[in-house]
Amino acid sequence: MTQHSKGTALITGASSGIGAIYADRLARRGYDLVLVARNGARLNELAKRLTDETGRAVEVVAADLGNKADLDRADLDRVEQILQTDASITLLVNNAGVGATAPLLASDVDKMEEMIALNVNALTRLTYAAVPGFVARGTGAIINIASIVGIAPELLNGVYGGSKAFVLAFTLSLQKELADKNIRIQAVLPGATATDFWGIAGTPLEHVPSEIVMPAEDMVDAALAGFDLGEPITIPSLPDAADWETYEAARQKLMPHLSRSVPAARYRAAIR
Ligand code: NAP
Repeated sequence: MTQHSKGTALITGASSGIGAIYADRLARRGYDLVLVARNGARLNELAKRLTDETGRAVEVVAADLGNKADLDRADLDRVEQILQTDASITLLVNNAGVGATAPLLASDVDKMEEMIALNVNALTRLTYAAVPGFVARGTGAIINIASIVGIAPELLNGVYGGSKAFVLAFTLSLQKELADKNIRIQAVLPGATATDFWGIAGTPLEHVPSEIVMPAEDMVDAALAGFDLGEPITIPSLPDAADWETYEAARQKLMPHLSRSVPAARYRAAIR
């Protein structure tokens, strides 16, 4: 199956789970691919299958995107450079991420910092590397894989929830900043999805109630359907989209009242 190219999609965390399924679906939609993750062998295997099955060009970049600011960041630099210089790139899927399920008292702060380096810092740097080229070329799209814990941080480890709240806030801000530049930015908020994520995060998938776990293929297909619909935020599980719109309307209602010259009346008595 060969089709007209839609340009190149660069997908981080493409060696397994959600990222590998995005790679499959985007190749079938006619994108050439740049696949990024640490496990080069798994990336090469996926690249070979997708090239054989779709005829698309697939490049593999084995890179660790999770290094902290004071460590060697050559890998992250390399991927930033690809985004800055390859004008065929029309889509960035910021998917690489790790989670944690343990609370603060059972967590190692160095692991938390590593999570922030990947989920927040790498996603930020890659977005900053991609956007100027997209703006200059007048087209481009970014899919940011956040999580429902971005709006429900009480569910898992708080740093993980905070990192995904960052992805959501950053996406909302960029949607506004880039609204008139023909750049699409979608945040995807998956609920529990059947991937290696859970074992790595500290809770085997078998311990998660099956009624809240979505097959990864269904999650990605729903997220891409949301992308096709032009949704700024996609929550694959949410039965009624109006519930998100109500939540968003409540947030918008707060906006004009969040910054004023005087404290609210309920505090003024205490101040006097
Ligand atoms: P996964 O199967 O564990 O995939 C994570 C991907 O990130 C792998 O390809 C992994 O590849 C890559 N990765 C991890 N550390 C990396 C690093 N330092 N540098 C580069 N790549 C790295 O889990 P997944 O569920 O597909 O996760 C994908 C995204 O979905 C994550 O952002 C996660 O937070 C989000 N999400 C998942 C769920 C869920 O329930 N599964 C729910 C909501 C959101 P290598 O090991 O080869 O580097």
